[in-house]
Amino acid sequence: MHTVNEHMQGLGTVRSVIRDLFEYGLKRASEVGAENVYDYSLGNPSTPAPASVEADMLDLIAHEDSVSLHGYTSAQGLYSVRKAVSDDIRTRFGAEVGPDDIYMTCGAAASLTVTLKALVNPGDEVVAIAPFFPEYRVFSEAAGAVFRVAEADLGAFQINFDALSAVLNARTKAVIVNSPNNPSGVVFRRETVEKLCAMLKEREAEYGHPIFLISDEPYRELVYDGTEVPYLMNLYDDTVVCYSFSKSLSLPGERIGYIAVSPKIRENRALYAAVCGAGRALGYVCAPSMMQQVVAKNLGKTSDLSVYRTNRDLLYNALTEMGYEAVYPDGAFYLFVKSPEPDAKAFSERAKQLDLLLVPSDSFGCPGYVRLAYCVKTEMIRRSLPAFRKLIESYR
Ligand code: PLP
Repeated sequence: MHTVNEHMQGLGTVRSVIRDLFEYGLKRASEVGAENVYDYSLGNPSTPAPASVEADMLDLIAHEDSVSLHGYTSAQGLYSVRKAVSDDIRTRFGAEVGPDDIYMTCGAAASLTVTLKALVNPGDEVVAIAPFFPEYRVFSEAAGAVFRVAEADLGAFQINFDALSAVLNARTKAVIVNSPNNPSGVVFRRETVEKLCAMLKEREAEYGHPIFLISDEPYRELVYDGTEVPYLMNLYDDTVVCYSFSKSLSLPGERIGYIAVSPKIRENRALYAAVCGAGRALGYVCAPSMMQQVVAKNLGKTSDLSVYRTNRDLLYNALTEMGYEAVYPDGAFYLFVKSPEPDAKAFSERAKQLDLLLVPSDSFGCPGYVRLAYCVKTEMIRRSLPAFRKLIESYR
């Protein structure tokens, strides 16, 4: 008998490439000085939470009864908070959700793990569209699903429908979409999501069972050119939204978000019960209680996102002018840059010699690129440009 679960031991032992680079950056900073390390590894917001968020925290601490403020709420979250969230969704997007369609969670990671656990039966398949957030594989497999990848559209980084069509089959339980996208920064256009929904509806009819669309939306509000981010519940009945306040309100360490189950899902009550059951089974009951109240008071608000826009323009323009090929990002805070050699890991290693920390794209299901998280100080980007120039010149 094994002492521990070997799969879990493996996950805990082999750190993600992103974490490895981040740790390497800390070590280098202690050797050569933090100002000489250009760390583009982590998607940690670099702009503070809106002032109202901290004001509301202080106000709650000053005026609420401490025992109830820090006490348990119901497993799915405070009714008043779920009502505020569902009102916000109705007002902003017109989807008819109510408080009993909302489950408060610890960020998008918990929203996804709970949703997947609620949906997956043994043998079911979960599809991710490349490039994708690497934890989708971890979360899907932990829920017992077979994880399938639809290869990327290497042109516009929308959806490669031939690849998606080939991967869908009668065992497909869910498709995860993420727009604005980590790692490409691209927003799926209305025509893309309409085509996606039409394809899924066709396959639902063919297979005689629902295929759920899991919309992972931590970057929904992070768009820079007024690009529309269609609300998928309005286009496809079998939709579950996994939302997080980590990026929109710069609160990733506070672990707060929600699941919204579309009321148009035919077995909506069964699915909501399964979400509650999965939350229970995974220990994700009662999301942080004070943060539930804080986000309810700040719905629809965002941090000042202007620094990301400045960084996007500076980095995209400078790198493409130097001769790098990059995907133009409409949103999130990532730039996806083509590696000048086929092996992105080798390119990332060469960049490391110049203290440029760029994440190779292999774990995003789309080899041959690197991801730059530009949620950093603008000044760091400016200081890093000579190193980027040296790097590309080393290939000439
Ligand atoms: N999904 C995507 C696409 C992400 O980029 C992240 C975090 O970077 C998450 C989910 C997890 O976010 P959270 O902090 O809300 O758990």
